[in-house]
Amino acid sequence: MTDVIVVGAGPAGSAVACHLARSGLDVLILEKTAFPREKVCGDGLTPRAVQELVTLGVDVEEPGWFRTSGLRLVGAGRRLEIPWPDGSLPSYGLTRTRRDLDELLVRRAVKAGATLQEGTKVTGPLLNRAGQVVGVTTAAGEQHARLVVAADGASSRLSVALGLYPRRDRPIGVAARRYYRSPRHDDDLLGVWLDPAPAGYGWVFGMGDGTCNVGVALLRTPHADYRRLLSRWLTTLPPEWGLTEENATTPVRGAALPMGFSRQPHYVPGLVLVGDSGGMVNPSSGEGIAYALEAARLAAETIETALARPTAGQRERAFQRYPAALKTANGGHFTLGRAFARAVEHPHVMRLATRHGLSHPALMRVAIKILGNITDPGGHRAPDRLAAALSKITPVS
Ligand SMILES: Cc1cc2nc3c(=O)[nH]c(=O)nc-3n(C[C@H](O)[C@H](O)[C@H](O)COP(=O)(O)OP(=O)(O)OC[C@H]3O[C@@H](n4cnc5c(N)ncnc54)[C@H](O)[C@@H]3O)c2cc1C
Repeated sequence: MTDVIVVGAGPAGSAVACHLARSGLDVLILEKTAFPREKVCGDGLTPRAVQELVTLGVDVEEPGWFRTSGLRLVGAGRRLEIPWPDGSLPSYGLTRTRRDLDELLVRRAVKAGATLQEGTKVTGPLLNRAGQVVGVTTAAGEQHARLVVAADGASSRLSVALGLYPRRDRPIGVAARRYYRSPRHDDDLLGVWLDPAPAGYGWVFGMGDGTCNVGVALLRTPHADYRRLLSRWLTTLPPEWGLTEENATTPVRGAALPMGFSRQPHYVPGLVLVGDSGGMVNPSSGEGIAYALEAARLAAETIETALARPTAGQRERAFQRYPAALKTANGGHFTLGRAFARAVEHPHVMRLATRHGLSHPALMRVAIKILGNITDPGGHRAPDRLAAALSKITPVS
């Protein structure tokens, strides 16, 4: 009997495993792939994500990381630069391929004492007579645990096996990316274009290693064709950036963005959902890594407290605090993001926002900081205070 089985070693799973192993619990990570492995992503880490990495003890001073100083928004012939906030969070962001990042994080969890089993696909939950999750099944047989963490990503087969489907009233996005050799590789602003699609955006993120991560994200519509969208949009970018077929170093690959707490509840007896499995991508930005890492920390705090309680009733009450903690941290923000996602589904709203918003830089800066959650939590500047107030008064569901 293990204390905790973590299913999936993406950022969510490795972070929760690392926190739990550090607190002395016996943790087993089951991962279907083997490291190093690819994961389709934009590879952009905001200061919020950097903060979580530092908390996990990741050395972000080592070679291999590329530092960013903020965002550059481009649309309707205008551009707006938004530096990362200067305050309680690190003043820089980072980029790093997920091939590197995910391996680095899982190795940290192992160093902290967690056991990793690669090439082990979890095939389903193991239930007791009361219907409580008491472990998982794999091709090798049954593995029992006091608690299971579903960190198995957007499709979370483990959650689906328990009847936890994505909510239909939540937005879902799709995004695709490709790497290109490009002289833009050392641009220290994350470039975001608002033009490629009415309810979407394009990005060019410098990786600092001679390549850029280039992609598009859009709200899922029945006929969303991200490959065509990406290639059409690339023809509008300056030719000297070299974002051409000859300079592409990978194929185009896409995946879903489960947003705004799209799968709930985040706790059912015996099972906690963390990261994309619980739909923890910010609906207005498509950012998911910071939220996965933050949820992992909150989940670990709850699990550690709960497993130390002497009775089943006390443990259950302690576990119930995890969904509430998630909502307190980001619920208001995700509600705002969902409202934004609904609004931009109407093409003219996005066009108006791009055209008029970017010609009012002060206003746009505040709106982007609030929607992208790039304010300083506890900061005293107007966007920080407005963001904190708005997320407090916004109803959460
Ligand atoms: C194209 C694209 C671009 C993006 N760009 C950004 C960005 O720039 N910045 C950002 O912050 N976010 C971005 N995101 C979102 C981000 O990638 C996710 O939010 C993040 O990966 C969530 O981490 P996770 O650990 O929850 O899930 P994942 O990273 O998906 O990890 C899940 C893990 O579980 C494993 N697994 C799955 N099923 C099983 C099973 N049955 N048994 C064992 N193991 C299993 C998988 O192999 C995987 O290792 C992007 C997403 C996409 C699709």
